Order: sequence, then structure tokens, then C-alpha cells
Amino acid sequence: MRQLLLIKYGELTTKKDNRNTFINILCDNIHKSLNGLNFKIIKNRVRMFIECEEIDLKNVINKLQKVFGIHCIVVCDKVNNNISDINEKVISILRNKNFNTFKVETNRSNKQFALTSPEISRQVGASVLKNLNCKVDVHNPDIIVYLEVREDNTYIYLNEYKGAGGYPVGVQGKGLLMLSGGIDSPVAGYLAMKRGISVQGLYFESPPHTNIQAKEKVLKLGNILNEYSGNFKIHVAYFTKVQEEIYKNVPDEYVITIMRRMMYRIAERYAKKKKFKVIINGESVGQVASQTLSSMQAINNVTNYPIIRPVCCMDKLEIIELAKKIGTYETSILPYEDCCTVFVPRHPVINPIIEKCIEYENRFDYDTLVNECVDSIEIVKINNKSYNDLL
Ligand code: ATP
Ligand code: MG
Repeated sequence: MRQLLLIKYGELTTKKDNRNTFINILCDNIHKSLNGLNFKIIKNRVRMFIECEEIDLKNVINKLQKVFGIHCIVVCDKVNNNISDINEKVISILRNKNFNTFKVETNRSNKQFALTSPEISRQVGASVLKNLNCKVDVHNPDIIVYLEVREDNTYIYLNEYKGAGGYPVGVQGKGLLMLSGGIDSPVAGYLAMKRGISVQGLYFESPPHTNIQAKEKVLKLGNILNEYSGNFKIHVAYFTKVQEEIYKNVPDEYVITIMRRMMYRIAERYAKKKKFKVIINGESVGQVASQTLSSMQAINNVTNYPIIRPVCCMDKLEIIELAKKIGTYETSILPYEDCCTVFVPRHPVINPIIEKCIEYENRFDYDTLVNECVDSIEIVKINNKSYNDLL
């Protein structure tokens, strides 16, 4: 049997000019997300409908709950626009439900329909009372029957499944997420996607100082983020030479600061080359020595590219809660070292001085190394495959 789902758009409604673009991108994203299932999309300016097989219903709802731009999803029944068909369907739906109290809420966009919304609610309510053993409670009902009387048909439903909200991924162009294996950067990527940015990851690895498990972990995080975007890619930057020169030339306490400055230089040059409009980073103010405001100032000083830091004002506990919700947490806490955790200095500087950063950096030809690193970046595509398939 086929099931009908009604999709209510998220924030799209406030952006009238871009409406069609938004709806088309959302439609493409839903196609990607439901790829492989038997479904059909019917869209108009106000609502979108998806028909799918009953057996796939749960799976379809789960997948749709990860698509940004959807405010909510409802499983609905469709009847002709006349009050007796509506009454009959509502009673057949409620007959199998266990409840004592109910109310009816009607939304009538079809102004040709003979009755007003309150009249429809009243008539349907009266018919339910006549046929089933229950009472009306308008304040705290066990069940709410929603009716949408539209031009073509009337749609009836009971429960709404909350959607992911935000804008469809892609309406804002491309962003480059500095993606480490930690907890913060995947959450930062998720939040950037939620604003409609088509996010791809940039991962710095330093073989042989970092191992293959660290990379697998990042690919796995990319695979999870891909469930929210459908076109996630990871760009792998080989950072070994830059990192080794830093260790050779820079005093211990400045190693992390300089490493971060090099990462931003590489990210900026690569973002320009590949036309990413923004860099996204998982820094959070005060979290570690390299994220005090003074550190952020010294680190950010190497670039004037647009950078957003979606988790910068969130508490660690809030970030962890979100990481659990989006499904990245369990992977993020796997204990593999990445290039920032190998050789961490015991006392990293908390208030780095920019002139000192420049002095230490001038001890080696970082510009050539940075360019070499940018030129050797490799792309790993993630297309809903398990990360194991990718290696
Ligand atoms: P944690 O949850 O442990 O804080 P993190 O990923 O936030 O993990 P930090 O050391 O706090 O790690 O790094 C701050 C930010 O710098 C990261 O969120 C990420 O955006 C970027 N970054 C750090 N290391 C890497 C790396 N190896 N590759 C890409 N980006 C990195
Ligand atoms: Mg962090």
C-alpha cells in the first residue's frame, strides 16, 4: 500500500523572492536522501507531498528528519473536498485509536469550500461525538485531528514529526569545514549546513605521526555529516612537512599557535582555489589555550577570508548534547590522535604575541611548504557508502 506524507516547509516561507529556488533545491535534496527507495514527490508553492511504500514509511521519515528546510512531516490521508467524506475518514482513523478527549483544528486555504474553518471543525467534531465514545477538550486533548482543506483535496492527519528546520543545503553556496576528529568541528559543520551552506571537509593529517585510524575516524564523521547534505566530500591535506618544520624551528609554547596559523593559510588558499565562499571552524571561545581571545586574534591574523565559528559561544556540554543528537559523538570520542594531539606542548602560550609568531615563522620557508600542501590536497568522495568501502 502507498502512504502519503505532507511536508511543511521551514524558514522558506519568509524568503518570498527565492521561494522557487529553495523549493527546487529542497526537492533535489529529498531525492538524494531517499535514493534507492520507491517514492514520488509532488510539490507546489505551499506544500510538498511524498508518496512512498507503507513498508518504507519509518525509514523515509527518519531520512526526511535529517533534511534541512523541512519544518515538519506528517503522515496524512487524502479525501475529496466534501464534508461527508471528511467525516467518514476522520471516524475511520479515530476508531482504532485509544483516547478519551479530542479536538479538531482546521486550516482552509480553499476559500471556495462552503464552510468556514470553525464551522468545519464544529461539524466534524459533532460527527465524532455522535459515532465514538469520547469528549471534546480544546485545552488539553489526547488527540488533535488536523484538517487542511486545499484546492484539490482535504488532508487529514494526527501527529507531526519534527523536521530539522533551517534552509535546504545548497541555497547558500559552498563552505570549507576544517574537520578534525574531535567533537566540535562536526557539530560546527552540521550547524553551517542548517543555514543552507553546502559544506565539505578539510582534514589535516600528518602521516606517519598520525595513523590510519585517525583518518578513518574523520571519514566516518564525514559519512555521518553526509546524511544531512548528500554531497559531502573530504579534502585531505598532507601536513607532515609543515608540521615537522614547525617542531624544528618554533619554541614549544608557540607550536600550536603557529600550527593553527599554517592551517588557516592552507585553508584560505585552498578555499580561494576551489571557490569556497567561507571557511568554517569548530573553535569555541576559551575552550583550550589556542582558543582564548588573544590566541584567536593571533591565529586569525593570517587571513581575512570570511570565517564562521558556529559553536564559538556554546558550552562544551551544549556541543556534546548536539553531537549526540546528530550522531557524531560516539565516533568523535574514539581515542585516535590527530596532528594537533601528537606532541602537544606542556605549556602552550595563552597570550601569543603576533610579532613573535612572525619571527618564528620566518625561520623557515613556510610559504613554499604551504603552497606544496595546497597543491597536494586529495579529495575523498562520500556517497552514502560506509567509510570502510572508501579505504
Ligand atoms: P575537541 O572536541 O577535542 O575540542 P576539536 O576538533 O574542536 O576537538 P581543537 O583542537 O579544539 O579540536 O581544534 C579547533 C578547531 O581547529 C577544530 O574544531 C577544527 O575546526 C580545526 N582543526 C583542528 N585540528 C584539525 C585537523 N587535523 N584538521 C582539520 N581541522 C582541524
Ligand atoms: Mg575544540
